Amino acid sequence: MDKDCIFCKIANKEIPSSIVYEDDDVIAILDISQATIGHTLVMPKKHYDNFLCVPHELMHKVMDVAQRIGMAEVSVLGAKGVNILINVNEAAGQTIKHFHVHIIPRYIADKGFQITLQDHSKEKDLNLPMLAQTLKKGLK
Ligand code: 5GP
Ligand code: ZN
Repeated sequence: MDKDCIFCKIANKEIPSSIVYEDDDVIAILDISQATIGHTLVMPKKHYDNFLCVPHELMHKVMDVAQRIGMAEVSVLGAKGVNILINVNEAAGQTIKHFHVHIIPRYIADKGFQITLQDHSKEKDLNLPMLAQTLKKGLK
């Protein structure tokens, strides 16, 4: 547990939250700011700074719960789709340094949450096969 971490305090019940699910390892709570109705955060109870440093087995448990939450958002909230979002580090918009997965139900395409992926491949004249090789070498 990180004594300064708000999600550790939530997992430890020192701070109240609206709990959707919990077991020994994983907790799912409603995000305090609801991007759309039902916006849920799934996280390990134990502190890990971000997605990149979570042990494989625990990641599996978190993603299993994330999938179940997504299914419930569709079946009981009537969502027509779901966005799964993980921010890693400040550069990617992570504000709370305790790994969590956003499960954001979607009802109407342009309401509540938007992410725009831009295509910069042309202007930078990228060599995609070479880039793939570079990344491949970095895989562990
Ligand atoms: P991030 O930007 O790190 O991916 O997402 C952090 C999320 O945590 C934000 O969507 C924010 O609304 C949510 N959040 C911040 N503080 C609290 C809190 O005290 N309780 C709950 N339930 N959510 C929080
Ligand atoms: Zn924490």
